[in-house]
Amino acid sequence: MDKDCNFSRKVLAPEPMLVFLPDCGHRTYDAFCIPYLLDNDAVTCDIFLPRILRDKSSTPESMFLHELGHVLNVRLTGDLTLASPAFLEFGESFFPGLSDRHRSVSGELFAHCFAMGVFSRHPELRGLDPFTMVTAEDKQAFGQFMEALIRTLPE
Ligand SMILES: [Zn+2]
Repeated sequence: MDKDCNFSRKVLAPEPMLVFLPDCGHRTYDAFCIPYLLDNDAVTCDIFLPRILRDKSSTPESMFLHELGHVLNVRLTGDLTLASPAFLEFGESFFPGLSDRHRSVSGELFAHCFAMGVFSRHPELRGLDPFTMVTAEDKQAFGQFMEALIRTLPE
């Protein structure tokens, strides 16, 4: 993703992004990120990847990509929970009701789709992809959509 669309230059701030790998579980979350929107609209964030206690089908790699998806969403919308209108429109055919009654989960779906899109571009990561129930074609569509979104961001 970085090679194809300059993810780090376009989405992340020049400041370092911290990834914490605590050797313990978290009471509520299997992974989470704390994004910071800076003055120039750049985003930096801390990503926490504790031990996975709940979502056993998941992998640390998929959680990491999911959190990066949140970072991209914050860069696009300034919001962690709601996805951009472009995603609501694009996602409607995959997730009927996304733009109205399921809008409140659009930020989470965006992050999942980002992770699936990255997996679809890297067959060597197939063993780490927990989204085995989603077709390769759909994942590819997510990957292309995310790439197009990132391309709209200035350098
Ligand atoms: Zn999430």
